[in-house]
Amino acid sequence: MTTRRHALALLVLTGCSNQGPEPPPFTEPTATGPLVEITDFDANGKASPPASVSSVRLDGEQWRARLTPLGFSVLRMSDTELAFTGKYSNHHETGIYQCAGCGTALFSSKDKFESGTGWPSFTAPIAATNIQDGEDGSRREVRCHRCYGHLGHVFPDGPPPTGLRYCINSAALRFVKINF
Ligand SMILES: [Zn+2]
Repeated sequence: MTTRRHALALLVLTGCSNQGPEPPPFTEPTATGPLVEITDFDANGKASPPASVSSVRLDGEQWRARLTPLGFSVLRMSDTELAFTGKYSNHHETGIYQCAGCGTALFSSKDKFESGTGWPSFTAPIAATNIQDGEDGSRREVRCHRCYGHLGHVFPDGPPPTGLRYCINSAALRFVKINF
């Protein structure tokens, strides 16, 4: 008498994952542009002296592969996320907010305040070297200095010590927790 065993092949159906809000895993971008002065921060949030690094210049398809659809709309098309919908509008952990496009440190939780606007708001960038601002009609637009991604706008109605309100899209940011 023989017994025959039949192995069961289990088909595990995981289903298609939705295009959720989480971006693809962050990788260092290919840096091909002209040199720019950027201030880097270590894992403890300590600043290094500003240093020259290659700016990040990618084409549209390369940016789409790196970003969520909303991240692409904000950073590369200068769109604005809806108020009170971004993941950092009501976010109070300590750490550094980096550019979602290139990883450059942009803002610190130390400078974040409750503006009531529904967008993450800061009184200052983490380092003046790391952002650019320029005219955008009647407003001043804020961009990442390394990849030129659109971040948001800066307004002259913020609290002390600067009196400025950097009104930034969550979709343009990537938070890294640090215990200062
Ligand atoms: Zn950037």
